Amino acid sequence: MPGKRTDVISWDEFFMRVAMAAAMRSKDPNTQVGACIADANHRILSVGYNGTPSALNDDEFPWETADDPLLDKHSYVIHAEANAILNYRGSNKDLQGATVYVTLFPCHECAKTLVQAGIGEVVYLGDKYEGTQDNLISKRILDTCGVTYRQVTVAD
Ligand SMILES: [Zn+2]
Repeated sequence: MPGKRTDVISWDEFFMRVAMAAAMRSKDPNTQVGACIADANHRILSVGYNGTPSALNDDEFPWETADDPLLDKHSYVIHAEANAILNYRGSNKDLQGATVYVTLFPCHECAKTLVQAGIGEVVYLGDKYEGTQDNLISKRILDTCGVTYRQVTVAD
């Protein structure tokens, strides 16, 4: 149609920007990660970011890493991808074959969770742990289970 805007952002960029906005909610001082799950009809199913469970007061728990697991943030935080799955209020069947947009390549724990939830594709922004043992395990899980992954870039 005449006059229609054609320079709109792509669906990939749209969902990644939603994930980036979710990451801005993270209280983690070092790593803010966001996730957005979308289906094949370009509908957002869920979003999440790395944080403590809702019922756990994040002012009363550590945000630092420590040798003592009781004082280490990793003991209390749920990753963005897992939160996006857990936050979904619809039927788990809807997640079958859905795409997760994540600002950071999933760790191997999240890779297992995504695979088991039926996620079909991972679209990621950064892969700062590329080549680490955790990253290799994550990619092995995704590869073996037929979950595809691809990187996208988003302009500043
Ligand atoms: Zn993770």
